Amino acid sequence: MNSTITAIATPHGIGSISIVRISGKDALEIASKIVKKDIDFFKPRYAHLLNLFDSENRMVDKGVVIFFKNPHSFTGEDIVEFQTHGGVMISKILLKTILHFGGRLAEAGEFSKRAFLNGKIDLTEAEAISSIIEAKSEEATYQLSKQLNGELKLFVNEIREDLVNILAYSEVTIDYAEEDLPEDIEGTIVERLNGISEKLSELLASSKRRNIVFEGFKIAIVGRPNVGKSSLLNSLLNYNRAIVSEIEGTTRDRVEEYINIGTHLVKIVDTAGIRETDNRVEKIGIEKSIEAIEEADIVLALFDGSEKITENDKKMIQLLEKYSESKKILVVINKADLNQIISKIEGFENISISTKNSSLKFIEKLENILTSINNSSDGGTILSSIRQINEVEKTVKAIKSAKEPLQNGELEFFSFHINEAIERVSSISRPFNYSEMLDEMFGNFCLGK
Ligand code: GDP
Repeated sequence: MNSTITAIATPHGIGSISIVRISGKDALEIASKIVKKDIDFFKPRYAHLLNLFDSENRMVDKGVVIFFKNPHSFTGEDIVEFQTHGGVMISKILLKTILHFGGRLAEAGEFSKRAFLNGKIDLTEAEAISSIIEAKSEEATYQLSKQLNGELKLFVNEIREDLVNILAYSEVTIDYAEEDLPEDIEGTIVERLNGISEKLSELLASSKRRNIVFEGFKIAIVGRPNVGKSSLLNSLLNYNRAIVSEIEGTTRDRVEEYINIGTHLVKIVDTAGIRETDNRVEKIGIEKSIEAIEEADIVLALFDGSEKITENDKKMIQLLEKYSESKKILVVINKADLNQIISKIEGFENISISTKNSSLKFIEKLENILTSINNSSDGGTILSSIRQINEVEKTVKAIKSAKEPLQNGELEFFSFHINEAIERVSSISRPFNYSEMLDEMFGNFCLGK
């Protein structure tokens, strides 16, 4: 971390402002050469409007320069931030000048890495930073901002403190005669371990439920051929197609489309092959519909309001009835612009639409459904990455493995598993440090001796 790093912080392209940052021990010296002022000139956290020069003394731009003195900066090091006029060239020349004066190009994520290494942020906050930049819905943004604010860090730290305390108990117990120990120490420890496991399992469950915030609500559009499934899909895509091309999972035989509805991200999984217009056989397959429904959070079941119920419609209704408890189903009576023969399907929530006309009413209904599902899953702390989920799962497993040796009096094995649990849970936020356990042991733990 000896080098002084630099990078353009804003996206490459035309814009009104572009930001270049320098972080490290030489940040101020490099900046002073660029603005041709003494180091003492800079007042921390003050917006200086200054002329900026390149290494050959040519003026490049006039911009705002802010100095963040260590440790009160994002990285914990000295940072100088240049806010120049936007566009590509000014920031490029500025970057070249900084490199000339001894800075080096930052690697991807290096500013955040330094912030972590200097104790300014933990891993959950670092992950939240990288995820919030890529968030694809407002809901995900709000959730990640809580993580950015340390919500998950606090949760993890509490669990870790509990486990460290339990470990301290057992480590000390090994060295003490039984009569010196509090009564039913084992029972108390098991109870506390059960409490921790429960908290973690709840966290895992609610994180899995809330995964839709990050991944998008999955919607399936089902119905017999010709009811208007692809027309509905197209009108939804016209409404507000989300820019999510980088999301993985779009394969050749499966189209996944993303749209934003209100604050939500919605993924339409075309398992039923509704896009394969030249393959009518594929469109009829009831198995395909089952597959689509199984995967979905919300099912849009289409019927043609201008025609009598057909045999295929009846099969579809039977199928929907099977899922009426487990899935949110919205029956969509389509072709409302034509003379209506059926207006609803009994036993389901219905809406009449015409894909030929405005879809606003339909979108509104969909938004209400999404909001109510969203509100019904709690808004508490959740895990936002596979890494975090894996670590919590391993922690729960290690705690489970610790109980048996404890009950058999095999305290070394018990300690081994609790250590593993502490390491796992700690790695979510910051790696475990053995001396912390010793502090806990000799600092907080008192056996009355
Ligand atoms: P799919 O087989 O379920 O995907 O149905 P399509 O979307 O291909 O639509 C079948 C036919 O119904 C097409 O000719 C559409 O133009 C027509 N269609 C779809 N929606 C409507 C609607 O709301 N009103 C009318 N009049 N025709 C529609």
